[in-house]
Amino acid sequence: MRITSSVLMTALLLASGRLLAADVLLMNVVVYDGTGSEPLRGDVRIEGERIVAIAPHLEPKSGETVLDQRGLALAPGFIDMHSHGDGDLVDDLDAAAVSRQGVTTILVGQDGDSKFPLRDYFAGLSTNPSAINLASMAGHATIREQVMGKDLYRPSTPVELAQMKTLLARELTAGAFGLSTGLEYEAAHFATTEEVIELARVAADAKGFYISHVRDEASHTFDSFDEVLRIGREAKLPVEITHIKMGSTSVWHQAAKRMPEYFERAQREGIELAADVYPYTFWHSTIRVIVPDRDFFNPQKVEQALAENGGAQNIRIVNYGPEAALAGKTLAEIAAHWQVTPVEAYMRIVKATGGAEGPNEQDVNVLGTSMSEDDVRWFIAHPQIMFCTDGELHGAHPRGAGSFPRILGHYVREEKLLPLALAIHKMTGLPAAQLRLQDRGRIAVGYVADLVLFDPATVIDRSTVENPVAPPLGIPAVMVSGEWVVRDGAVTGKRPGRVLRSAAFKP
Ligand SMILES: [Zn+2]
Repeated sequence: MRITSSVLMTALLLASGRLLAADVLLMNVVVYDGTGSEPLRGDVRIEGERIVAIAPHLEPKSGETVLDQRGLALAPGFIDMHSHGDGDLVDDLDAAAVSRQGVTTILVGQDGDSKFPLRDYFAGLSTNPSAINLASMAGHATIREQVMGKDLYRPSTPVELAQMKTLLARELTAGAFGLSTGLEYEAAHFATTEEVIELARVAADAKGFYISHVRDEASHTFDSFDEVLRIGREAKLPVEITHIKMGSTSVWHQAAKRMPEYFERAQREGIELAADVYPYTFWHSTIRVIVPDRDFFNPQKVEQALAENGGAQNIRIVNYGPEAALAGKTLAEIAAHWQVTPVEAYMRIVKATGGAEGPNEQDVNVLGTSMSEDDVRWFIAHPQIMFCTDGELHGAHPRGAGSFPRILGHYVREEKLLPLALAIHKMTGLPAAQLRLQDRGRIAVGYVADLVLFDPATVIDRSTVENPVAPPLGIPAVMVSGEWVVRDGAVTGKRPGRVLRSAAFKP
């Protein structure tokens, strides 16, 4: 990478004491503009935080940093439509696992679980910014808990629902982009569809959308998708099935057969249906989610749940509070170690982490290999399905540091599953449209310079179950709002990230 920078200009900027991003001319880049159209080779000029010119050739101006990229690809910064980065972003403002993938914006507040109140959280991040942009949904379970306390294993009363609607409206005016649910999780599983529709109407009034970790990701997957469509139809707002999957042997190989009908039906009925997917066949969650109706001590149901998830050898314990040494072992191995059946081992683990009341649900996290590669591939290739990591900044699942480079390297280059320009559109322009972002998600004059430079010939994920935060290869530089947050594949320590607020935001 050839660098010809103006030392004088840099000195002037430093002397002025202002945190101005230096003006940059990126020469010889292959521009994927985020619309899905074919790339163009040329130069891109950035002044301050904005893209100001794009042309086959731009003459360097005095005072700007000129960087010859020798044919690297340049794309808009990637948008992660389902991130758990809000878990510890304030403790890790560089968010290396995110930015080194080329992700410049994360959508958090997922699975019904958001920071509360968002206004305070956003204010904190605005005062003490991170390297990346953050947008949040308002979480259904979070709002439920505010109103119903720990008494969550039942539908809400009309009075409680009215209080929840008031709180949700407040979160939306704080800048939330809509409502998220995690109906498979205990804090929300007993909410009725009507409760969710009533809340989704509040989100619709704020021009927000609905994103859902659906009620059942196993044998009742399609009933859950029906519920999502019903919510979209009756609350009249766009709906997104997040981390979409065929997560049980009983629905394996159904994506290609049954999903087109869902998109067609949504279109016929005027429902904006979207989805996002992470590129792995295994998930990471609590051990309880595999028995959705919480009948954890019913041996037949547990046995069926294990079978639907591919058997006890496919459930790997990541952490286990009561006996830390069991981390890394499969449920089958633990059962053998305890000399009990896998069903008994499952029930013992649930009991030891809070029993049916589940106060210590997070005391046992598991990785479950319960998806089939053909379904994952179908979702990855679909032109309307976006991408996510579903990852944490320091999570146990390699998706948190590898999802985007895995799509670009493995599925685009090696597997030729979809064209690069389409994959980039699904990472940039498409999610920006879902979020109604006016000036991000494209490389165009006037747009904010959230950018990623990568090498299509070498980009690949390297994160694994053994080393889940290993950085990818082939993504040398990432820019947020005109400032480099990654250079030579390493974080720079710059923190130009913004809190992105929805159109409903009222100061
Ligand atoms: Zn989820």
